[in-house]
Amino acid sequence: MEEKKPKRPKKPKTFAPSLSGRCLRYSVMDLLGFGRQLSDDTLTAMHEGASLHKQFQQSLATSCDVVGLEVPLKNSELRISGRIDAVVREHEHCIAVEYKTMRDEKFSAMRMTGPVFDHWAQLALYVNIGGYYGGWLVVENRGTGERLTWPQTPDPSWTEWLVQRIAAAQEYQEKKALPLREVSVKCRHCDRWQRCFKSESDREAAIAAHPLWEPVPQAPDITWQNDPAVWRREGIQ
Ligand code: SF4
Repeated sequence: MEEKKPKRPKKPKTFAPSLSGRCLRYSVMDLLGFGRQLSDDTLTAMHEGASLHKQFQQSLATSCDVVGLEVPLKNSELRISGRIDAVVREHEHCIAVEYKTMRDEKFSAMRMTGPVFDHWAQLALYVNIGGYYGGWLVVENRGTGERLTWPQTPDPSWTEWLVQRIAAAQEYQEKKALPLREVSVKCRHCDRWQRCFKSESDREAAIAAHPLWEPVPQAPDITWQNDPAVWRREGIQ
């Protein structure tokens, strides 16, 4: 009788850069393979975003020196794996580019309040852990095509924060356990909220009692990004 080959142990899922600025519990759910509840609106937005994403990458070639598109980022020590939308060369330096699209209302709000933390954190991972000279966060209004771009430079406080958060998420992943909730207004738009609350009213009550996100350790400050002098940037149209 033929001997059965022993099954290879399944490799643990790697940490996706898009989880960088998320609630720890959400990240662990992702690492453990929990599903997401995507609404029709979200699916439509994802579909539109994917086609705009392609157009953006094509348009970069006409305005920048493109080093690569969908550039892999892997760090085996930290067990991170992902792809950077684009890497461009500016004055002989490599810059990581992250592109996002937003609805008109959110885009308008962003002019006043600066970039979304999750987006900024994802770019911070590319710049600080990927070792890039700098980064650009490009956000496009899905309705009007208008774009805002924020430049980012390396910052050791981001490296420290990201490494600690990733290690904490992977510790729970190894134990196959979920950390406590990090309740905040972000729960309202979370596509795994049903794993945290019995009902919408339960969720809303928790948000009312604790609206601010308070990750441990405390996240680096990004409020200085609200200054229009920082984000107005020529070059990407
Ligand atoms: S509902 Fe809130 S606490 Fe639960 S995973 Fe989502 S963001 Fe985290």
